[in-house]
Amino acid sequence: MERITETLTILTEADKETCDLPQVLEEELAVGKKRLYIESYGCQMNFSDSEIVAAVMRNAGFATTSTADEADVIFLNTCAIRDNAEQKVRNRLKQLNGLKKRKPELLVGMLGCMAERLKATLLEEEKIVDIVAGPDAYRDIPKLVEEAESGQKAVNVFLSREETYADISPIRLNSNGISAFISIMRGCDNMCSFCVVPFTRGRERSRDAHSIVREARELSEAGYKEVTLLGQNVDSYKWTSEDGAENINFAQLLEAVASINPDLRVRFSTSHPKDITDDVLYTMAKHDNICKYVHLPAQSGNSRVLKLMNRTYDREWYLHKIDRIRAILGEDCGISHDMIAGFCSETEEEHQDTLSLMEYARYDYGYMFAYSERPGTLAAKKYPDDIPYETKLRRLNEIIALQRRLSLERNQRHIGQIHRVLIEGPSKRSDDFLSGRNDQNKVVVFPKGTYQKGQYVQVLITDCTAATLRGETI
Ligand code: SAM
Ligand code: SF4
Repeated sequence: MERITETLTILTEADKETCDLPQVLEEELAVGKKRLYIESYGCQMNFSDSEIVAAVMRNAGFATTSTADEADVIFLNTCAIRDNAEQKVRNRLKQLNGLKKRKPELLVGMLGCMAERLKATLLEEEKIVDIVAGPDAYRDIPKLVEEAESGQKAVNVFLSREETYADISPIRLNSNGISAFISIMRGCDNMCSFCVVPFTRGRERSRDAHSIVREARELSEAGYKEVTLLGQNVDSYKWTSEDGAENINFAQLLEAVASINPDLRVRFSTSHPKDITDDVLYTMAKHDNICKYVHLPAQSGNSRVLKLMNRTYDREWYLHKIDRIRAILGEDCGISHDMIAGFCSETEEEHQDTLSLMEYARYDYGYMFAYSERPGTLAAKKYPDDIPYETKLRRLNEIIALQRRLSLERNQRHIGQIHRVLIEGPSKRSDDFLSGRNDQNKVVVFPKGTYQKGQYVQVLITDCTAATLRGETI
């Protein structure tokens, strides 16, 4: 069953949640220091959290290394969103077992959502694990490492109502020097019935707005050209100062970050359809440097299924949001989605509703999954996981095939248009070409000429596939 549960992002690279690619922080000079090796799995929040962990560990005298063999401590920052995200981590632990046998003093830590979900049972199930730390326990990690060094097993899975790590400057060790993530809130209060996040990341809390703006300004001053504001549900961002004098919502935060520098691009993820406001859309329209791209997960196109999922909106509400985006930001605004195939009791007609919703929305791309039951969630308690494996797979494949067609059609619209592209580096296929992203978050490839990473260029789009736009600079 689980072979299909992590399918498939199409059309963007490893830049969004669910990509599940390990991230290895880069080499740092380590004279006289112990070495930390860290891999991240899952969503952008995890990648961003690893940068906080690296900062905490640096203060405790650890340097990062990109080679697991050289490490004194190895951390896996884990994901629990679908079962096979967890299997991936367990397989990685098996690989690390050999290393631990050769080097018994090596410490292995599990961080993040899987650590939070399984808590101390992880220590029984995975004998090589010495440290277990949940997403709100990262300040405590140096102490946990000390405990583990003295031969004890160390666990902290306490979930906080306040922790936002606002005062910690993340170490951008894996950065391209151009784009950076800024975490603006943590946790989630939504309780979608299929989702483990509220249990692994705790209650929603928003980070001090001033610390966010400061971080974005520092990044801009350091030469970064793009920031992505991150949260499970950014539209419910709400921060109040201690004296109650300042109340900042997401539209206001977006405005403040966009006003730092017109050359600093601003993106954000993820929006929840029930919370995204016209105010946010008008703020996007007002600032050229806020990318015209909205990731608006639908999960299903059928109102009965959405109710079972506890998404708190129905099909009509969702379609109305799509209409608002197109009305305020225009037909070319990029829109992407998350969709789940084969949720509990979903009928064939209800699956057809998902396909027709996709046709209506004309999504630019999507992240599509087969339903994977997660222990402890509302759905696992209330609804049988009753859609057979083959049916889930077929429905998922239909959703993916439709998205491919929609993506191609949407990309073809851009042929003949001129797009402003932020160059990210050489194209994957050839060093004679550069690759970057346009406003809508689409990859654009063009001949390299004398251009450099980090520059903005105007590109006339001449050709496309479902995944990439091609063109020439003008
Ligand atoms: N907070 C975001 C939202 O609500 O839009 C989504 C966060 S979640 C990390 C990313 C995506 O994983 C979800 O939008 C959903 O499509 C998918 N997902 C979550 N739980 C799942 C499950 N049990 N089975 C399959 N996909 C799941
Ligand atoms: Fe999970 Fe729903 Fe929260 Fe997204 S909004 S993290 S899907 S509970």
